[in-house]
Amino acid sequence: MNDSEPRDFIRKIIYDDLGSGKHAEIVTRFPPEPNGYLHVGHVMSICLNFGVAAETGGRTYLRLDDTNPGKESPEYVEAIKENVRWLGFDWDDRLTHASDYFDRLYESAVTLIEKGAAYVDSLSAEEIREHRGTLTEPGTNSPYRNRSVEENLDLFRRMRAGEFADGEHVLRARIDMASPNMNLRDPAIYRIRHIPHQNAGDEWCIYPMYDFAHGLSDAFEGITHSLCTLEFEDHRPLYDWFLDQLQPEHRPRQIEFSRLNVAYAITSKRKLNALVEEGIVSGWDDPRMPTIAGMRRRGYPPGALREFVRRAGVTKKDKLIEMGALETCVRDTLGDTAPRRMAVLRPLKVVLTNYPQDQVEFMEAMNHPGNPNFGTREMPFSRELWIEQDDFMEEAPRKFFRLKPGGEVRLRFGYIIRCDEVIKNDAGEVVELRCSYDPDTRSGTGTSDRKVKGTIHWVSCQHALDASVRLYDRLFNDANPNAADDFHSVLNEKSLEIVAAKLEPSLAEAEGAVQFERLGYFRVDPQDSSAEAPVFNRIVTLRDSWAKLEKQALQGQ
Ligand code: ATP
Ligand code: MG
Repeated sequence: MNDSEPRDFIRKIIYDDLGSGKHAEIVTRFPPEPNGYLHVGHVMSICLNFGVAAETGGRTYLRLDDTNPGKESPEYVEAIKENVRWLGFDWDDRLTHASDYFDRLYESAVTLIEKGAAYVDSLSAEEIREHRGTLTEPGTNSPYRNRSVEENLDLFRRMRAGEFADGEHVLRARIDMASPNMNLRDPAIYRIRHIPHQNAGDEWCIYPMYDFAHGLSDAFEGITHSLCTLEFEDHRPLYDWFLDQLQPEHRPRQIEFSRLNVAYAITSKRKLNALVEEGIVSGWDDPRMPTIAGMRRRGYPPGALREFVRRAGVTKKDKLIEMGALETCVRDTLGDTAPRRMAVLRPLKVVLTNYPQDQVEFMEAMNHPGNPNFGTREMPFSRELWIEQDDFMEEAPRKFFRLKPGGEVRLRFGYIIRCDEVIKNDAGEVVELRCSYDPDTRSGTGTSDRKVKGTIHWVSCQHALDASVRLYDRLFNDANPNAADDFHSVLNEKSLEIVAAKLEPSLAEAEGAVQFERLGYFRVDPQDSSAEAPVFNRIVTLRDSWAKLEKQALQGQ
């Protein structure tokens, strides 16, 4: 692709509209409903809406689409604002709510009634459903469809005044009960709900429906391109119908793109809410959650999320993207920015029998092998060390180049050691290795040029920092948990393992992401960690152990 070519079909439309002079400035909006936390799918919409406007010198509104009181809350509003800001976007003074427009929406509804384009229906919800018809049969007109303008205006005013109970009347657009598009069969535009609103308080007891409120809010804000997901394609004729009827000053254009779905992740707020409510996860920001809050707490950098959706691309084709692709972006970002440290997750003690009892040496360790600007640090080395249990094998195959009885290995930034004796407990488990070190082999300064094939990491026992380390895995066993009848049946019971790890002492000061050499990227948990009881989260492993499995699973899609 040529560099000057627009990256996707939406950018092509937008650049063409600027080129032709149809618009002098691009105005977009990101319109979440504050009924839950934002998830990885929303990242795509945020990056698209804020991205195209920023690229073209335009503007973006953060609009809270709050037409459903009861399900919405200020907690979600705050979380949404924080998430968008953290992702690197700025709405400046353009924070709005659909509820900011309740007066204008009411007036627009009155205009529709005056034009004979809306009527108050007094059928019950059940009866309205029965009149709607099916995909193959037309609907039938409500007996109230031909009420006079005066009667409709009077009833609608009294609906607003609180004279009727929930469900007694609804205001409907008067379009076409025989339309092949079900959305045009006289859709409801206002309903009665005696329930307070998270932003408007108890000022209203009638609330506009999404389709009515959304397009008009777009028009009120002067949105040029209203970008939404494909499930709204069938609603576009209705979106346009309201604009045709009301002729607002600005006419927005709705364009649909496909949802971003990520394998092994759920992207429905309702189901994510169930995970939280049922205590399956610790909260909306549990690091296993595909929410922005969860991914942030886990340690995913915002740049990695932006890069992920850039690589996924904006298209019209449904997609289920491998979780591995997201993790690759996280690794790519952290690889350059995270300093290296040493930590032992499943410790096995090594005693260097020929190392002086009370001696401590300080080994110079590089903070980043690929970038000398990260500098070095000193790691204490002493007679008793922790190594990783699986860096030792008693009955090792010939190609095992780590530690085995009689075998040698290099301790990174330290000495070459040999395993002389294996100590076991009564149960026959290996609990300690007696080793000897070769004093001539100290890294950097040693006089010996002896080489061994394996190098392993270690931490000095007397200096080690005890920490609880949380190893996260996929929350689901099934590549497409969104499609499962009951997501409970595909939960991965082993999505969290907690180990008592030994860390090099400099990790007491860790901020942000670090790489534990040979193990992965980790970070201090921002909520549960303390100086006395450090807690680290694994952000991502160094290699993608799921790649094969995931490919196979997705091929079946
Ligand atoms: P959910 O089903 O999780 O409640 P939603 O679409 O109802 O999602 P909204 O708060 O209405 O959530 O979404 C705000 C915006 O984000 C909408 O424009 C919507 O189209 C977009 N969006 C939501 N989910 C995705 C997704 N998976 N991929 C891309 N865009 C999305
Ligand atoms: Mg929605």
